[in-house]
Amino acid sequence: MQKRTESSHRELILGIVRRSDRHPTADDVFMSARANVPSISLTTVYRNLRRLVRDGQLRERMFGGVSRFDAHLEEHGHLVCLECGAIGDLAADGQALAQSLKPAAPSWQVEHVDVELRGRCPTCVRKAERGAYTRAAPRALITSHKSRAPSRQVRRETPRRPARSPPSDSAV
Ligand SMILES: [Zn+2]
Ligand SMILES: [Zn+2]
Repeated sequence: MQKRTESSHRELILGIVRRSDRHPTADDVFMSARANVPSISLTTVYRNLRRLVRDGQLRERMFGGVSRFDAHLEEHGHLVCLECGAIGDLAADGQALAQSLKPAAPSWQVEHVDVELRGRCPTCVRKAERGAYTRAAPRALITSHKSRAPSRQVRRETPRRPARSPPSDSAV
């Protein structure tokens, strides 16, 4: 009975990681697993994740000091978003890359290459572009609308600015 439960838990956990496109953490897997099996514990999730990694059905990788699980078993690189932490897969020929780096490390025998490109994901690029628009537009509107009356509001903002420099007092 118990064995059957354990293997069905393992199937569930493997399925969760396989369906996820975000290289989930153990906590992420736990949250999804609990939605299916409310009685499942974090310990069970950890134990099965470790077993799946040991059996070669999942890969474990560290991103920014956080352990994540990957069901994509072929050699590949990763794209990491510095803004939201999204992680995408990237086809990368590690051996070719190692060859191109070899002249710099001639006496090293390279066995493994990790390719990680960091930047902004498409969602964050779009958000930043939209943010630039929305931030610019209302300011233009406010100045044209309120150019007469709310000069007080503008004044109120002014004394706040010098307040930024003294925090060195509190730091000492
Ligand atoms: Zn992002
Ligand atoms: Zn991956």
